[in-house]
Amino acid sequence: MSHVLNCKIISHRRVGADCRRLVLAAPQVAQAARPGQFLHVRCGGTADPLLRRPLSIHDVDQEQGLVTLLYRVVGRGTALLAARRSGERVNVLGPLGRGFAPPPAHRRVALIGGGLGIAPLLFLARELVKEEREVWVFHGARTAVELGCADFSVLPVQLLVATDDGSAGHAGSVVGLFRESAAKMRPDWVAAAGPHGMLRVLTSEMRRLDLPGEVSLEERMGCGIGGCVCCSCRIGAPGNWQYRRVCADGPVFAAAEVVWE
Ligand SMILES: Cc1cc2nc3c(=O)[nH]c(=O)nc-3n(C[C@H](O)[C@H](O)[C@H](O)COP(=O)(O)OP(=O)(O)OC[C@H]3O[C@@H](n4cnc5c(N)ncnc54)[C@H](O)[C@@H]3O)c2cc1C
Repeated sequence: MSHVLNCKIISHRRVGADCRRLVLAAPQVAQAARPGQFLHVRCGGTADPLLRRPLSIHDVDQEQGLVTLLYRVVGRGTALLAARRSGERVNVLGPLGRGFAPPPAHRRVALIGGGLGIAPLLFLARELVKEEREVWVFHGARTAVELGCADFSVLPVQLLVATDDGSAGHAGSVVGLFRESAAKMRPDWVAAAGPHGMLRVLTSEMRRLDLPGEVSLEERMGCGIGGCVCCSCRIGAPGNWQYRRVCADGPVFAAAEVVWE
């Protein structure tokens, strides 16, 4: 069930190169949220900008009733959000969307995040660890400093990193790192989020390895609840696809069903 809530900011700080970690008091969301879902956030304190901005749920603390978002400042909405201070209230709508649904039988799971695509994967890793699955996290970023936006050290997972400039871990793409590691790791399921180009290459790699899994898509979003249809993507098979709404039918889809444009 989704809620519209005015959530108190518990902490809001800069992490990594140019990201912010925002912790909100949102007990109802913390109880209801599933990994891969998102909040639709009113970034300024007013109705301007009119449209909310979608941000993935990065982490959840059900006991304390806290929800954490991780975001990069890229434009007006996120710049307004970055100016909000602890103690202020942020209006959110959520949790929204269809999250990740790893089948119980799959026990060796690879989570692959490119850039801020890492955001939904911490919450997912936490849930998979609770279910005693073996979790490998592949985190790709432009530089070592950017890797600092997400902290997986709190969880018993295997973390492998890749940077475009070679300043940490594998030099090159996170998909390249996954390709190199897959033989050793022998994953039986994959969850991924990141830029379209990265996800497209990854899904063709998954097809080659005959690996099932899901990807979280990002499209410009309007209402966030399925009404305006502006975030549509193509789901199905080439030549036999249908438009699906990223906000309401996704943002998580079976990797094999995404028709990349
Ligand atoms: C389901 C979902 C979950 C998301 N989760 C996160 C998250 O956890 N952390 C995070 O940092 N970002 C996330 N995003 C992207 C985030 O919503 C956008 O960066 C944000 O809306 C930009 O708002 P703005 O007003 O700052 O920028 P705008 O002024 O609206 O745009 C600035 C630039 O960003 C580009 N842009 C804006 N929105 C998107 C988008 N959805 N996809 C690709 N490019 C975009 C624009 O084309 C433009 O170049 C998510 C998007 C979706 C759809």
